[in-house]
Amino acid sequence: MRLIGDYHMHSKYSGDSKNEIEAIVKQAISVGLEEIAITDHGPGHSGYGIKRENYKLLRQQIDELRGKYPQIRILLGIEANILGRDGALDMDEEMLNITDWLNAGYHFGAKISEDYMIHLYNFLSRFSGYFYRKAKAINTQTMVRAMHRNQIKAITHPGAKGPIDMDAVAKAAAETHTMLEINNSHGHLSAEEIQIAMQYDVQFILGSDAHELVNIGKVPDALDRVQKARLGLDRIYNIRL
Ligand SMILES: [Zn+2]
Ligand SMILES: [Zn+2]
Repeated sequence: MRLIGDYHMHSKYSGDSKNEIEAIVKQAISVGLEEIAITDHGPGHSGYGIKRENYKLLRQQIDELRGKYPQIRILLGIEANILGRDGALDMDEEMLNITDWLNAGYHFGAKISEDYMIHLYNFLSRFSGYFYRKAKAINTQTMVRAMHRNQIKAITHPGAKGPIDMDAVAKAAAETHTMLEINNSHGHLSAEEIQIAMQYDVQFILGSDAHELVNIGKVPDALDRVQKARLGLDRIYNIRL
């Protein structure tokens, strides 16, 4: 069994990584990956988001590197931010048109226009049952709508950053053919969450969420959770048995 692709990693175009694009490609080849998606934070994140002009630049760089490194398939991806209860993402048509791989997730710091209270509820959900329930209802609604409204490949770290109703999210993921990520860097999906989600016809994906080169293609913690949950490896997109 081995990991053949990694579809969640950040480059220097995210505010929280310094990785050069060619160094990412070389590292991915050296750890035996056959395909990668470079997935910087969407432009709607105030601290870490990629600038729109850099997204176009990254497209050009990837196209050049494809010629230089034919032994690996390199995809332009993004970790878009889910912005609000209507399920909108921080992606415009122009960006979507050049995107090969669309991930989406919920993050603090995303510039949510009408729904800025969500961040506050999610923060307060750690201390108060009332806000926990309120945050859970809103987070679930935003995630479900985002899956129905957009052609998302995978929801990154579902359940990190704020509580969600895993049954509802997994049901929507199955209906919309959206994968749920078992993220190596965050604790989600947890083993318990995997067990809930696996009751639905959902496909799973392992993601390193590497912000440093050495973590590309590394998913040991995620695999521990897979084993704990007794999830069949044939249900994971990027594993070859
Ligand atoms: Zn993330
Ligand atoms: Zn990420």
